[in-house]
Amino acid sequence: MDFEPKWIAWEITRRCNLRCVHCRSSSLLEAGDHPDFSLHQARLVLDDIASYASPVVVLSGGEPLLRSDVFDIASHGTGLGLRMCMATNGTLVTEAVCDGIKDSGIRMVSLSLDGARAETHDNFRNQAGAFAGTMNAIRLFNERGIPFLVNSSFTVRNRAEIPEIYRLVKQLGAKAWYMFMIVPTGRGEDIMDELIPEDIYDEILDWHYRMEKEEDELLMRPTCAPHYYRIVRQKAKEEGSSFKRRNLQFSTGGSKGCLAGQLICLIDVDGEILPCSYFPKSAGNVFQTPFKEIWEKSELFLQLRDFKSYKDNCGSCEYVGVCGGCRARAYAMTGDYLAQEPFCSYVPLKLRRQEDSTNPDSDQRPASQRP
Ligand code: SF4
Ligand code: SF4
Repeated sequence: MDFEPKWIAWEITRRCNLRCVHCRSSSLLEAGDHPDFSLHQARLVLDDIASYASPVVVLSGGEPLLRSDVFDIASHGTGLGLRMCMATNGTLVTEAVCDGIKDSGIRMVSLSLDGARAETHDNFRNQAGAFAGTMNAIRLFNERGIPFLVNSSFTVRNRAEIPEIYRLVKQLGAKAWYMFMIVPTGRGEDIMDELIPEDIYDEILDWHYRMEKEEDELLMRPTCAPHYYRIVRQKAKEEGSSFKRRNLQFSTGGSKGCLAGQLICLIDVDGEILPCSYFPKSAGNVFQTPFKEIWEKSELFLQLRDFKSYKDNCGSCEYVGVCGGCRARAYAMTGDYLAQEPFCSYVPLKLRRQEDSTNPDSDQRPASQRP
């Protein structure tokens, strides 16, 4: 694997007009100790990145549309040849915003939709009218020919609507739908008891596999469910089919489940470079150190790229190179980002063989035939 930066999320403001229950940055309308950086600083950061790599750069937040210079930032990136995108909650999208998106060369907009019905989405987003705002944004994007994709976050609170959201997103004309089971960081820590339990998580991933196999229009992939990559391989093998995955557009998804600090990172509003949006640990500060130096030399990033340093089940797993487990979830739930993925029920072959050789009563069927 070549560890090049392919996708960078950039928190250009921590301010947000919503207060979503799962917000990784605990954004509020006022950002307190985390003010926006200047347009001059933004241009320097983009120059620095473009001198080293040519990733997708997603202007994110908070809510990026709260910055009046968001399209100046995007235009500068486009001028440098970077593929600029924007992630918005959709509620502030107007005709003028659509003009800005088009004129600044933004290639894709991602929107959030966490419910198929207004009450579910608005409850998750802590704001009456949020669903109507997103629908209005979608109407405008369709009228203006602006490509968009939809991200949906799930906990036990809204997981019953997963199939319905999938159908709605397809019908609304999105290019892609990325389903995400929240990682408890930021405000998400307050709803730890709402995390989808392991067995239901597996059921949802099975459902997704069946849908993805049939789907030929909408691009779909569960985001940050690294063991989905293991499940797809196992199922395709069981079914004797060669399931041809389609390439995703402007997504973090790629050759492997977890790409944190390997192909992707997040730059927060203070300039700290984190392995991904849900991993609150800094590899260095881009306002102080060149991006290239942080990307290539940070101890944290080097550890995340050394799959042999992963522990317990993940460390012994034959799928570590295609999956890797969610390092942020391991960090949030155990305090050790190299620990095994807390939500994966798979016992690696190597461990099962060790168990067989020490336990005379163990199941003697070949590992591949055991439940
Ligand atoms: S044990 Fe770890 S590496 Fe293996 S499939 Fe599960 S999460 Fe992935
Ligand atoms: S650590 Fe990996 S799988 Fe987990 S949220 Fe970050 S990128 Fe996604």
